[in-house]
Amino acid sequence: MSSNIRINKVCQHCNKVFIAKTTVTKFCSDQCAKSNYKKRQKDARIEVSQIDTERQLSEGKQQIKSVSRDSSAAMVGTSGLSAVTGLSERTIFRLIKDPAFPRVKIGKRLLFKKDAVIDYLTSKYGNL
Ligand SMILES: [Zn+2]
Repeated sequence: MSSNIRINKVCQHCNKVFIAKTTVTKFCSDQCAKSNYKKRQKDARIEVSQIDTERQLSEGKQQIKSVSRDSSAAMVGTSGLSAVTGLSERTIFRLIKDPAFPRVKIGKRLLFKKDAVIDYLTSKYGNL
């Protein structure tokens, strides 16, 4: 019964006007239908890879964010303290032999409160 229907439609692939036999026909030919299907799959793949790229970019940004958050943290390890004070890690290891050097020991991890270390250094060496 659908064979009696004749509808002027525009092919969604080549934009040619054609006579459709059913209301759901979107393409003038099988060729256009196939080409369009392939194109859609390609577009979908591109979209997926774009989403992947965007996700990777945003993950990268988050990593940068967490790194910079670490470096601005109040507590740092010896390498972080080295970056904060401009002293070499070797110098820091020498300085922390002083029992008065402010430190926080959590298990085996040695941490330093930046403010306390800066106060300690300026009060001990600042007047020299
Ligand atoms: Zn077509």
